[in-house]
Amino acid sequence: MSQHINVLDMAREQLAVAANILDLDKGLHDVLSKPMRQLIVHFPVVLDNGEVQVFEGYRVQHNAARGPTKGGIRYHPDVDVEETTALAMWMTWKCAVANIPYGGAKGSVKVDIKQLSKRELEKLTRRFVTEIGSMIGERSDIPAPDIGTNAQVMAWIMDTLSMQKGYTVPGVVTGKPIELGGSEGRTEATGRGVVVVMEEAAKVMNIDLGNAKVVVQGFGNVGATAAKLAEEAGATVVGISDAVGGIYNPKGLPVHDLFNRYSGRDGGIREYKDAEQVTNAQLLELPCDILIPAAVAAQITKDNADKIKARLIVEGGNGPCTPDADHILSDKSVLVVPDILANAGGVIVSYFEWVQDLQNFFWEENEVNHKLTKIMRHSFASVEASMMAHKTDMRTAALIIGVKRVADATIRRGIFP
Ligand code: NAD
Repeated sequence: MSQHINVLDMAREQLAVAANILDLDKGLHDVLSKPMRQLIVHFPVVLDNGEVQVFEGYRVQHNAARGPTKGGIRYHPDVDVEETTALAMWMTWKCAVANIPYGGAKGSVKVDIKQLSKRELEKLTRRFVTEIGSMIGERSDIPAPDIGTNAQVMAWIMDTLSMQKGYTVPGVVTGKPIELGGSEGRTEATGRGVVVVMEEAAKVMNIDLGNAKVVVQGFGNVGATAAKLAEEAGATVVGISDAVGGIYNPKGLPVHDLFNRYSGRDGGIREYKDAEQVTNAQLLELPCDILIPAAVAAQITKDNADKIKARLIVEGGNGPCTPDADHILSDKSVLVVPDILANAGGVIVSYFEWVQDLQNFFWEENEVNHKLTKIMRHSFASVEASMMAHKTDMRTAALIIGVKRVADATIRRGIFP
């Protein structure tokens, strides 16, 4: 579905709504609607069979008014520079809503990692990060994991940039393994944050989690953690999926067991016998109280928004609902907790990791989780207050906060020279 919808148009449309409510100056709106830097690279990798393959990759920095730019690196066959720019823009608003001192960035490589050996993946990573190296730095632009990348990829990035400096620079990337300066709690941070706001939003919607049925699209870092923690919070997870398809059992799925057996193996969950097999499109329309889309963008559109049965949608992934879908869901009184609030847990704990790296002083997991929960709850409360004050939906309410903070920073700094 995502290839038919331009996610950059989506991001710009969302910004325009907030800019209009904030009565933003036209010049300032223009500044915020464009990325400050985009780099497109083509780079060769020698495959295990000796052939050379050329890959295309991008790094986009959207805005640095509030601090160094921050954003994940995605390895996926469908990426392009426009999608990467939209994701960078969402990172700017996300950091501003959470009130952490970063701007937004994103990187990606057009690649199907299932076609690569581990050695090829390492070579691709080291070459890509060398190509975009002029933009990356612990004080300028700090990558993190996203779809298709993980702690091991972050370790290769840290090592490559450290080799080029001549000394170890842990703060140049977050989401690293613990033993290389990673933070306790970072792997689970995004999913944990999703479940914290899910609990807050459930109170708003009078949904009793003990009786709630939850469907999760995507069984990767974010989806699997969110599903496990939703189960621990007392909810019943009735549907999950990965890129290949999903499974459904209205009585509930054994999420922890499924994670231990099938995590990281696309399609593996479908080997589980005590469930009905569903497509990703069917999964989104299953009967449930809460839907957590935690995969790719543009999954809930004008074509299926009307068929969504959940009363609460918590956007674990980036950009799952299109603006058309937002209107339909709002008319149906479905509460959508937007990505720039719901999945901010990842960048919040990335911020903690960066602070720990710069100070060479590391925190215990309890402390990380406690501080994460506090920021997520506070951000949710601020967005809820903005929603009431402006009598609008939660996405617009969050954008009003995020865009205003970035606009204020830009005005305060002034336009150079
Ligand atoms: P991941 O690679 O760990 O997992 C992605 C999951 O989505 C996998 O289960 C994959 O099979 C599934 N998937 C891929 N394409 C799909 C498709 N077309 N339809 C259905 N499922 C599909 O990635 P992740 O880190 O869990 O990221 C998931 C989403 O969360 C992305 O939108 C990402 O930008 C966002 N996000 C991630 C983080 C983070 O810390 N990792 C932080 C904030 C937001």
